[in-house]
Amino acid sequence: MAFIEIESLVVCYGRTAAVKGVSFQVPQGEVFGFIGPNGAGKTTTIKALATLLKPASGRARVGGFEVRVQPDRVRQIIGYMPDVLGLYDELTVNEYLHFFAAAYRLDPDRCERVVNDVLTLTDLGGKRHARIDELSRGMQQRLSLARVLLNDPQCLLLDEPASNLDPRARIEIREILKELQNLGKTILISSHILHELAQLCTRIGIIEAGRMVAQGSLEEIYRTLGLVRVIHVQVANQTPELLEQIRKLDGVVAVAVEVDRLAIQIQEDKLPVVGLADRLHGLGAQIYMFQPQAMDLETAFMKLTQGKTA
Ligand code: ADP
Repeated sequence: MAFIEIESLVVCYGRTAAVKGVSFQVPQGEVFGFIGPNGAGKTTTIKALATLLKPASGRARVGGFEVRVQPDRVRQIIGYMPDVLGLYDELTVNEYLHFFAAAYRLDPDRCERVVNDVLTLTDLGGKRHARIDELSRGMQQRLSLARVLLNDPQCLLLDEPASNLDPRARIEIREILKELQNLGKTILISSHILHELAQLCTRIGIIEAGRMVAQGSLEEIYRTLGLVRVIHVQVANQTPELLEQIRKLDGVVAVAVEVDRLAIQIQEDKLPVVGLADRLHGLGAQIYMFQPQAMDLETAFMKLTQGKTA
């Protein structure tokens, strides 16, 4: 079942449509990466899902509830983390979380335990008594995430949760999100940084100028675009003849001879990665390293979003 369903969604600011008929679905328990350049309409779409902006037309449902018709029900099951943090600098971490626990109307007897749980999950237990303005940017992002977890939402809407973070802080956020995925949460996460989402998301959607330009698993998007993929291979019995035969394989675009390996470019719609391994064996190559390069999302993104502006 799709937990988030958006169909022909249009959202306007005044007379200008920022989201122009977007459709996508996020099945329950999946992590959907919502990718697009600045100004593409990610925040606007997420705000509509979070019931903060009214759609001009189209449908947006979360957990089966239509955002326009039952916004209260939607709010009960989502955790929305905006792209601006909005923390209160002078409070301690503990005070901040207790304040929001009260705002969520959590039973006072449960507050302490719930606050402890979210602090543990976001690895902030040691900072409980620190003032918010003393926290690093990464810790503040984690605190923001801790806040949206207070009411144990089934669905998380996270707007650029990893922006402006150093690599370590980004990895920490990623680890927490993996844990949340294991807990069965349905997660929509936006980013303009592509590779940030590649390892985390089960599906991605690419939006530009208010319209979806592609969606699916990374493999699907890659195949649809007919992009080349590089496979690094070390062959024990490399000869010029063998190289020539590899170059002639259907689906092989080019073979570069590098210092200690071959970089074989393949077109995956013609020759899948496993297919290449089979064909190399078939040619008598003795392979001792076979390593497909990570998906080149940047290329996919550039190809999909060329030259269009919001
Ligand atoms: P993204 O999150 O992908 O960066 P946004 O959803 O913030 O994109 O913006 C989409 C478009 O809507 C942009 O052209 C932006 O300038 C416009 N926009 C965003 N917020 C407002 C607003 N409050 N009033 C008018 N236009 C807005």
